[in-house]
Amino acid sequence: MKIKDLVLQPLPYSFTDLDPVISSKIMELHYTKHHQGYLTKLLTILDSNPDLGEMGLEEAFSKIDTLPKNIQQVVKNMGGGFWNHTFFWQVMCKPNTSNISNSLDSKIKDSFGSFEKFVEEFVTKATTLFGSGWVWLVKSQNGLELVQTQNQENPLMGFTKNKFKPILAIDVWEHAYYLDYLNDRGAYVNNFFKIINWQKVEENLNS
Ligand code: MN
Repeated sequence: MKIKDLVLQPLPYSFTDLDPVISSKIMELHYTKHHQGYLTKLLTILDSNPDLGEMGLEEAFSKIDTLPKNIQQVVKNMGGGFWNHTFFWQVMCKPNTSNISNSLDSKIKDSFGSFEKFVEEFVTKATTLFGSGWVWLVKSQNGLELVQTQNQENPLMGFTKNKFKPILAIDVWEHAYYLDYLNDRGAYVNNFFKIINWQKVEENLNS
Protein backbone atom coordinates (compact mmCIF):
# COMPACT_ATOMS: atom_id res chain seq x y z
CA MET A 1 0.00 0.00 0.00
CA LYS A 2 1.22 3.50 -0.85
CA ILE A 3 1.97 5.85 2.04
CA LYS A 4 -0.72 8.28 0.84
CA ASP A 5 -3.38 5.54 1.24
CA LEU A 6 -2.43 4.39 4.75
CA VAL A 7 -5.23 4.21 7.33
CA LEU A 8 -5.47 3.07 10.93
CA GLN A 9 -6.72 -0.49 10.92
CA PRO A 10 -9.32 -1.45 13.54
CA LEU A 11 -7.88 -3.14 16.62
CA PRO A 12 -8.32 -6.94 16.64
CA TYR A 13 -10.00 -6.61 20.09
CA SER A 14 -11.75 -3.95 22.17
CA PHE A 15 -10.00 -1.34 24.36
CA THR A 16 -10.98 -3.30 27.49
CA ASP A 17 -9.79 -6.72 26.29
CA LEU A 18 -6.17 -6.48 27.44
CA ASP A 19 -7.18 -5.47 30.96
CA PRO A 20 -5.70 -5.93 33.57
CA VAL A 21 -2.35 -6.18 31.79
CA ILE A 22 -3.04 -2.96 29.83
CA SER A 23 -6.04 -0.86 30.87
CA SER A 24 -8.64 0.50 28.46
CA LYS A 25 -7.50 4.00 29.41
CA ILE A 26 -4.04 3.32 28.00
CA MET A 27 -5.36 1.42 24.99
CA GLU A 28 -7.76 4.19 24.01
CA LEU A 29 -5.17 6.96 24.34
CA HIS A 30 -2.45 4.89 22.72
CA TYR A 31 -4.57 4.02 19.69
CA THR A 32 -6.67 7.14 19.16
CA LYS A 33 -4.08 9.76 20.13
CA HIS A 34 -0.57 8.35 19.74
CA HIS A 35 -1.04 5.95 16.83
CA GLN A 36 -3.41 8.28 14.99
CA GLY A 37 -1.04 11.16 15.68
CA TYR A 38 1.89 9.46 13.93
CA LEU A 39 -0.24 8.77 10.84
CA THR A 40 -1.69 12.28 10.72
CA LYS A 41 1.78 13.84 10.93
CA LEU A 42 3.14 11.44 8.29
CA LEU A 43 0.34 12.32 5.87
CA THR A 44 0.70 16.04 6.53
CA ILE A 45 4.12 16.21 4.88
CA LEU A 46 2.88 14.59 1.67
CA ASP A 47 1.51 17.94 0.48
CA SER A 48 5.04 19.22 0.12
CA ASN A 49 6.57 15.79 -0.70
CA PRO A 50 4.15 14.03 -3.09
CA ASP A 51 6.79 11.51 -4.25
CA LEU A 52 6.92 10.02 -0.76
CA GLY A 53 3.18 9.38 -0.87
CA GLU A 54 3.60 7.16 -3.92
CA MET A 55 6.10 4.94 -2.13
CA GLY A 56 5.26 2.00 0.14
CA LEU A 57 6.15 2.54 3.80
CA GLU A 58 8.32 -0.58 4.02
CA GLU A 59 10.05 0.48 0.81
CA ALA A 60 10.75 3.89 2.39
CA PHE A 61 12.20 2.12 5.46
CA SER A 62 14.48 -0.04 3.35
CA LYS A 63 15.97 2.91 1.49
CA ILE A 64 15.77 5.42 4.31
CA ASP A 65 19.48 6.31 3.95
CA THR A 66 18.86 7.57 0.42
CA LEU A 67 16.01 9.94 1.34
CA PRO A 68 16.57 13.68 1.99
CA LYS A 69 17.48 14.35 5.63
CA ASN A 70 14.20 16.05 6.63
CA ILE A 71 12.20 13.23 5.02
CA GLN A 72 14.35 10.63 6.77
CA GLN A 73 13.33 12.06 10.12
CA VAL A 74 9.63 11.99 9.27
CA VAL A 75 9.80 8.44 7.90
CA LYS A 76 11.70 7.33 11.01
CA ASN A 77 9.54 9.08 13.58
CA MET A 78 6.07 9.19 12.06
CA GLY A 79 6.32 6.32 9.55
CA GLY A 80 7.97 4.15 12.20
CA GLY A 81 5.41 5.23 14.78
CA PHE A 82 2.58 4.25 12.46
CA TRP A 83 4.07 0.91 11.35
CA ASN A 84 5.29 -0.17 14.80
CA HIS A 85 1.93 0.32 16.48
CA THR A 86 0.05 -1.44 13.66
CA PHE A 87 2.39 -4.39 14.23
CA PHE A 88 2.19 -4.19 18.05
CA TRP A 89 -1.64 -4.38 18.21
CA GLN A 90 -1.56 -7.59 16.21
CA VAL A 91 0.82 -9.49 18.46
CA MET A 92 -1.35 -9.04 21.57
CA CYS A 93 -4.57 -10.75 22.68
CA LYS A 94 -6.78 -11.22 25.74
CA PRO A 95 -4.74 -12.35 28.77
CA ASN A 96 -3.96 -16.05 28.99
CA THR A 97 -5.79 -17.04 25.82
CA SER A 98 -2.84 -17.97 23.62
CA ASN A 99 -0.44 -20.86 24.04
CA ILE A 100 2.85 -21.21 22.24
CA SER A 101 3.02 -24.13 19.82
CA ASN A 102 5.62 -26.88 20.25
CA SER A 103 7.20 -25.86 16.98
CA LEU A 104 7.71 -22.19 17.98
CA ASP A 105 8.75 -23.20 21.48
CA SER A 106 11.51 -25.40 20.11
CA LYS A 107 12.70 -22.63 17.76
CA ILE A 108 12.98 -20.33 20.77
CA LYS A 109 14.89 -23.03 22.67
CA ASP A 110 17.26 -23.49 19.72
CA SER A 111 18.13 -19.79 19.74
CA PHE A 112 18.06 -18.91 23.45
CA GLY A 113 18.81 -22.20 25.23
CA SER A 114 15.43 -22.37 26.97
CA PHE A 115 12.13 -20.50 27.07
CA GLU A 116 13.08 -19.14 30.50
CA LYS A 117 16.33 -17.72 29.11
CA PHE A 118 14.39 -16.10 26.28
CA VAL A 119 12.06 -14.44 28.81
CA GLU A 120 15.02 -13.33 30.91
CA GLU A 121 16.80 -11.75 27.95
CA PHE A 122 13.56 -10.16 26.70
CA VAL A 123 12.90 -8.59 30.12
CA THR A 124 16.50 -7.40 30.41
CA LYS A 125 16.50 -5.83 26.94
CA ALA A 126 13.12 -4.15 27.58
CA THR A 127 13.98 -2.81 31.03
CA THR A 128 17.49 -1.60 30.18
CA LEU A 129 16.58 0.22 26.97
CA PHE A 130 17.41 3.83 27.83
CA GLY A 131 14.71 6.36 27.08
CA SER A 132 11.99 5.44 24.59
CA GLY A 133 11.95 2.60 22.12
CA TRP A 134 11.03 -0.94 21.27
CA VAL A 135 12.31 -4.47 21.74
CA TRP A 136 11.80 -6.86 18.85
CA LEU A 137 12.00 -10.60 18.47
CA VAL A 138 13.31 -11.00 14.95
CA LYS A 139 14.20 -13.77 12.58
CA SER A 140 17.76 -13.42 11.34
CA GLN A 141 20.25 -15.63 9.54
CA ASN A 142 21.22 -17.00 12.95
CA GLY A 143 17.72 -17.99 14.01
CA LEU A 144 15.76 -15.81 16.44
CA GLU A 145 17.28 -12.74 18.10
CA LEU A 146 16.21 -9.88 20.34
CA VAL A 147 16.92 -6.38 19.07
CA GLN A 148 16.45 -2.97 20.71
CA THR A 149 15.54 0.12 18.68
CA GLN A 150 15.38 3.73 19.84
CA ASN A 151 12.32 5.96 19.55
CA GLN A 152 10.20 4.78 16.59
CA GLU A 153 12.96 3.05 14.66
CA ASN A 154 12.36 -0.57 13.68
CA PRO A 155 14.29 -3.52 12.26
CA LEU A 156 13.06 -2.83 8.72
CA MET A 157 14.92 0.46 8.52
CA GLY A 158 18.07 0.70 6.44
CA PHE A 159 20.54 0.63 9.30
CA THR A 160 19.96 -3.10 9.80
CA LYS A 161 20.27 -3.73 6.05
CA ASN A 162 17.00 -5.66 6.22
CA LYS A 163 18.55 -8.73 7.73
CA PHE A 164 15.84 -8.88 10.35
CA LYS A 165 12.23 -9.89 10.08
CA PRO A 166 10.20 -8.71 13.11
CA ILE A 167 7.90 -11.34 14.58
CA LEU A 168 7.10 -9.86 18.04
CA ALA A 169 7.50 -6.41 19.61
CA ILE A 170 6.96 -4.55 22.85
CA ASP A 171 6.53 -0.79 23.08
CA VAL A 172 8.52 0.48 26.07
CA TRP A 173 7.73 4.18 25.67
CA GLU A 174 6.34 5.50 28.94
CA HIS A 175 3.00 6.23 27.22
CA ALA A 176 2.61 2.44 26.80
CA TYR A 177 2.56 1.70 30.54
CA TYR A 178 2.87 4.73 32.81
CA LEU A 179 -0.84 5.20 33.62
CA ASP A 180 -1.01 1.57 34.82
CA TYR A 181 2.46 0.88 36.16
CA LEU A 182 3.96 4.32 36.88
CA ASN A 183 7.75 3.91 36.74
CA ASP A 184 7.69 0.10 37.05
CA ARG A 185 8.56 -0.84 33.49
CA GLY A 186 9.65 -4.28 34.71
CA ALA A 187 6.14 -5.16 35.93
CA TYR A 188 4.68 -4.11 32.57
CA VAL A 189 7.23 -6.17 30.65
CA ASN A 190 6.69 -9.25 32.81
CA ASN A 191 2.89 -8.97 32.50
CA PHE A 192 3.22 -8.53 28.74
CA PHE A 193 3.91 -12.28 28.48
CA LYS A 194 0.25 -12.93 29.45
CA ILE A 195 -1.03 -11.08 26.37
CA ILE A 196 1.34 -12.27 23.65
CA ASN A 197 -0.59 -13.68 20.70
CA TRP A 198 1.72 -16.61 19.94
CA GLN A 199 -0.35 -17.70 16.92
CA LYS A 200 0.27 -14.30 15.37
CA VAL A 201 3.97 -14.44 16.25
CA GLU A 202 4.24 -17.81 14.51
CA GLU A 203 2.30 -16.49 11.54
CA ASN A 204 4.78 -13.61 11.31
CA LEU A 205 7.67 -16.07 11.44
CA ASN A 206 6.27 -18.26 8.68
CA SER A 207 4.92 -15.53 6.39
MN1 MN B 1 3.43 3.66 21.64
